[in-house]
Amino acid sequence: MKALVFNGPRDIRYESYDDPKLTGHNGVILKVDKCSICGSDLHIYHGDQISKTHYGADVDKFCVGHEFIGEVMELGKEVHGFKVGDKVLAAGGTGCGRCKSCQIGRIAECANVTGFGLSKELNGGQAEFVQVPNADRTLMRIPDGVSDDHAILLTDAMATAYFGTTSADIRPGHSVAIVGLGPIGIIGVELAFLMGASQVFAIDPVENRRQKAEALGATTFAPGNEAFQTIIEKTDGKGPQSVFEASGAKPAVEAALSLVGPAGTASFIGLPQADVTLPLMSILYKNATIRAGVAPVTLMWQSLVPLLQQGRLKAEGLFSHTMDLSDGTEAYRLFDARDDNVVKIMLNVS
Ligand SMILES: [Zn+2]
Ligand SMILES: [Zn+2]
Repeated sequence: MKALVFNGPRDIRYESYDDPKLTGHNGVILKVDKCSICGSDLHIYHGDQISKTHYGADVDKFCVGHEFIGEVMELGKEVHGFKVGDKVLAAGGTGCGRCKSCQIGRIAECANVTGFGLSKELNGGQAEFVQVPNADRTLMRIPDGVSDDHAILLTDAMATAYFGTTSADIRPGHSVAIVGLGPIGIIGVELAFLMGASQVFAIDPVENRRQKAEALGATTFAPGNEAFQTIIEKTDGKGPQSVFEASGAKPAVEAALSLVGPAGTASFIGLPQADVTLPLMSILYKNATIRAGVAPVTLMWQSLVPLLQQGRLKAEGLFSHTMDLSDGTEAYRLFDARDDNVVKIMLNVS
């Protein structure tokens, strides 16, 4: 098959790779229909670190990508919820399927959790075909009234935005700050208002991303002192009650921590690099609650799908570019360079 294959830092190539085979009885093989590139894929592209893996040139080749939808081609005999031909979306990662954490959908806490497209142990779905182990707990048939764009967003970005905003304890009437306006942060703005936020402040260095947040009702700022001072002023000198940090970049993490008001909550979902640390002193004296984690993606679907079906959550205009999988090398370059006002890129596979 053809796939986008990690060959080393800044070297993701569209090339041939072995077809996936079922390695257990609880998995399926999907024919991938569409996939997308995530901000966290750029950590791989940059040769940075995700969890314990450093993406240097010494890493064995693997297919990248954890955001994909497709059609079931083949299934193991222990898969009960799906049949050949089903159109499905997959959570961005999976676990063993048997432990207590997996059984309650909290896959991130499984001892054997793996994300798709992080190593050759679980090849990714920026490919013509992908194996999805533990299929019954990892896949969902694309529900009626859910578009392909939304289905792709449900694999990670929208689920992570929902997890991050609910983890920030947003309540009706709260003032909210969102730091980082990639797709997750932009969806976070919409969700914060759905949860009843009275005002949403949003910070990002890129103007067209701020414009998207403004169109949803947020008050936006480029990062810096002026943003900090204005937000503090507009929240009675205290700072927002809920802060959602949606990038993982060191300055964004620091901004989120400095903004959160007394007894407020700050939540973090961006994949941090090793040099990102938390200043316990300021957290303690603010009585702030800090939450960080990887979204239990499948658990978020039950809340998000009805919001999408009812048209209450729109998540519109996030796919600024649609390209073919064969243009993947250029797609990564463009996404990384933030050229051409890119927000998120959809790749058509078939
Ligand atoms: Zn992602
Ligand atoms: Zn497990």
